[in-house]
Amino acid sequence: MAAEEIAVNRMDPSAAADLCERSPAYVREIAPYQPGKPISELAREMGLAERDIVKLASNENPLGSSPRALAAIAPALAELSRYPDGNQYELKVALSRRYGWPVEGIVVGNGSNDLLEMAAAAFLAPGRACVFSQHAFAVYPLATQARGARAIVTPAKRYGHDLPAMARAVTPDTRLMFIANPNNPTGTLAPWSELEGLLHSVPRDVAVVLDEAYNEYLPREARFDTVAWLSRFPNLAIVRTFSKIYGLAGLRVGFALMQPALADVLNRVRQPFNVNNLALVAAQAALGDLAFVERSSELNRQGMAQLCGGFRALGLDFIPSCGNFVSVELPRRDGAPRAGAVYQALLRRGVIVRPVAGYGMPDHLRVTIGLAEENDRFLRALGESLG
Ligand code: PMP
Repeated sequence: MAAEEIAVNRMDPSAAADLCERSPAYVREIAPYQPGKPISELAREMGLAERDIVKLASNENPLGSSPRALAAIAPALAELSRYPDGNQYELKVALSRRYGWPVEGIVVGNGSNDLLEMAAAAFLAPGRACVFSQHAFAVYPLATQARGARAIVTPAKRYGHDLPAMARAVTPDTRLMFIANPNNPTGTLAPWSELEGLLHSVPRDVAVVLDEAYNEYLPREARFDTVAWLSRFPNLAIVRTFSKIYGLAGLRVGFALMQPALADVLNRVRQPFNVNNLALVAAQAALGDLAFVERSSELNRQGMAQLCGGFRALGLDFIPSCGNFVSVELPRRDGAPRAGAVYQALLRRGVIVRPVAGYGMPDHLRVTIGLAEENDRFLRALGESLG
């Protein structure tokens, strides 16, 4: 359906321009985050029915949400006239029990994105720098720039973070470092020993944010108890989310574990009621839904094998991934990148994936692991789109 034309009284644009120019140049120069295309938007653009569209573009859980979380939301609807608990106490107690970490060292965010922003707000300002890797999650450069700080971007090594290079890149004005492990959109996992080496060598006056949004997708044998590092490294913050394996992306809730002194600083820049009532109860219930986590992880393992097998059959390279997504390489034709054209061809077939040219990967498309039939539909559409 076409959007309704809404009449507004427009002001003289030059008046607004004067005001907008007062915004700091580093804010005006921000290139806004490009989210995955919503199903409703593609349906409007292509005249398709929403039920015929497959979206594998935002690393969402194809099984939906934790059933325990959904059940917990229903009674909480009666409390929507109340503000949420600004201290997020009950969720923090549940997290504290799960991770064996004190409540005072836990910060809850409106998605883990909120926690990344809080870290930037707490430590960055003009004249300060933040270190992160090439091809790292897009919010790191955005959060850095929004604070007027300088980004120090270290070249990736075979698409992964080069941790020794990141440690060496720290300058006297560096106050923050972001590490995504596994990283999005590459799916690469940095070796734990190298991470520990980095934590030893980075000065204690640099906050290190270890973003583990995809941690729960790691197979058991690849896991490592990073929470145990928190007692040894007072500058470390571990950030996780309920958006991915718990299936609560639409509610926006994430959390971070760190030393209580560091949590105190982050809480100073946190909005008083940053996480809503429904998100708090849903997250607490989801945390206890181990069966859903297990099912989601198993489905992801099977779907990853299905997609990688499909890529091999099509003769396509991909970056081996430890997340719930994988980036596939589209070979160039006559030297020209083809990922953009394949993305468009997939859209015409009702399949939404994610272009990653903005991540410095113009030859790749990132696809989220879906249900078996969704993966199948994508692979068939991909085969047809290669032409
Ligand atoms: N970190 C990484 C590495 C991510 O990929 C994402 C989501 N794309 C986030 C953080 C933020 O997710 P959310 O705010 O939904 O928790």
